[in-house]
Amino acid sequence: MLRFAPSPTGDMHIGNLRVALFNYICSIQRKEPLIIRIEDTDTQRNIEGKDKEILELLALFSIEYQDVIYQSAQLKYHRAMAIQLLHDKKAFNCFCTPAELDVKRELAKKNKQPFRYDETCSHLRAEDTIDNTNPFTIRLRRPDSDITVVDKIKGSITFHSFDIDSFIIMRQEKYPTYNFACAVDDMISDISLVIRGEDHMSNTPKQIAVRDALGYDKSIEYAHLPIILNHEGKKMSKRDDASSVKWLLEEGYLPQAIANYLILMGNKVPKEIFTLSESLEWFTLETLSKSPARFDLEKLKFINREHLKRLDYKELSRYVGFADDEIGALAHLYLEESGTLKELRAKIEPIFSEKSIPSMYQESAQTLKAVIQNAPFFEEYTDFEQHTMKASGLKGRFYFKSLRLLLTGAEHGPEISDIYKYLKNYLAEVVK
Ligand code: GLU
Repeated sequence: MLRFAPSPTGDMHIGNLRVALFNYICSIQRKEPLIIRIEDTDTQRNIEGKDKEILELLALFSIEYQDVIYQSAQLKYHRAMAIQLLHDKKAFNCFCTPAELDVKRELAKKNKQPFRYDETCSHLRAEDTIDNTNPFTIRLRRPDSDITVVDKIKGSITFHSFDIDSFIIMRQEKYPTYNFACAVDDMISDISLVIRGEDHMSNTPKQIAVRDALGYDKSIEYAHLPIILNHEGKKMSKRDDASSVKWLLEEGYLPQAIANYLILMGNKVPKEIFTLSESLEWFTLETLSKSPARFDLEKLKFINREHLKRLDYKELSRYVGFADDEIGALAHLYLEESGTLKELRAKIEPIFSEKSIPSMYQESAQTLKAVIQNAPFFEEYTDFEQHTMKASGLKGRFYFKSLRLLLTGAEHGPEISDIYKYLKNYLAEVVK
């Protein structure tokens, strides 16, 4: 079983989507189910409705899964496992107060030492604390030996037992900490491979320590994906618009193009333009670069244009807000100069709107407009041109620029004869 474990705490970041895509691809390749685990235990940070939004985005990107689990609903297991660990003396109750711990943390900071728990409570015997009514947390006993994480992308990394620390698994209110909940859930769901962002690398030994302490001996494979950098070479953050999947979609990047780019970025792939289902045939985590991937919006735009070109006219027409094949064909002409749906709509919409004509062509356009409105229907552009040129008495650029402006609202663009081919049935709506 594989899992994608988003937190419903904000807009989906492209890094999360990349993790979701890779989990999906690997689940298909390994013929193992994929589950979605909504990590909603940090109630302060949860944002209402974000879980639904994440699931909608997964559907939009054709990421299929077997089940959705809410981490908060697993609380009974987290508590049961914590009790088990206490019983086995792998965990202990800690009565140190936050204030006491803060003093020690400050001291460590002053001495330029990393703060680690000093084991004050680790030797308390249960019978000695039975009457203690003070609030307490539960800590996992520091593992006896170091833990080596074997990562499919990063290689082997060893974490010292001292650094894994006797960390808190249950807070005073008896809700699990993130690492504990995650470790238990991965165990209960029988996860075989965890693919996630490299910001979780330091959590991994702690999560392994939890499962070791519970006597779980199935080893889970790990792949931590390198971070994504922005064009300045800094970690892509919420401040970068392009980091938000929603923003990219609103800008008019197609889901299939975004998926294509996220699979290609920082990777060695057999071809540049492909669909998610094609990538199932050759994708492998092995070819991913260990170093951070740089996000390049221009490259995404190039890929997006290629995917737009592959849409059939009906689909393209729908994407720009129309229903007819002809408008799709017309939009297709504009793909040379537009890389996103937003740019494309900005070319197509003016065609059906009130035109603003530069003063230089106002008079000629006015004349030509009257001629077009009264002209019979011409199947061929050459006949249309011959008739309207003659009837208007216009020549050269006064004819051609005026015609272009009347048809498209722009001074430049694709060949007018090509445009006519798709607009001839709409002249009454276009030239009004
Ligand atoms: N909820 C974590 C996140 O959104 C993912 C943790 C995991 O995959 O283990 O970053």
